[in-house]
Parts: sequence; structure tokens; C-alpha cells
Amino acid sequence: MSDNQAGSHQGNAGGNDPEAVRIPRRTPMACQFCRGRKLKCDGRTTCANCERRNIPCIYVPVSDQPK
Ligand SMILES: [Zn+2]
Ligand SMILES: [Zn+2]
Repeated sequence: MSDNQAGSHQGNAGGNDPEAVRIPRRTPMACQFCRGRKLKCDGRTTCANCERRNIPCIYVPVSDQPK
């Protein structure tokens, strides 16, 4: 990721971007392995990361936790 390209002085660091503040409601579901490793999970029944390693892809359903 190269966000800091030279010659780009457009003042993009301001907080004036409504889309930047928006948090997508749909949280991408990641399997346990991807979560633990902070990998990008594709959300498949057996995600690419697990498939590569030939490990069981386990999804833990997140139910609303009672406070
Ligand atoms: Zn995964
Ligand atoms: Zn997985």
C-alpha cells in the first residue's frame, strides 16, 4: 500500500470525508484462523487461508452478548 505518493497535496487528512467516518454495518465474518492472524478472510465455507493450509475453517457465530 503506497498511500503517500509524492506530489499529492490535496489535504486528504481532514475529517471532512463522510464516507471515511461511516462504518459498514456488515462486518466481514472471519474464521477463527484469520481472526487470530488478522488475515483477510474471504468468508467462504473454507476460506482461502485455511484451504491453503489444509486446516479446518471454523466460524464462531457472534451472538449478541448480554452485558
Ligand atoms: Zn478465514
Ligand atoms: Zn478459514
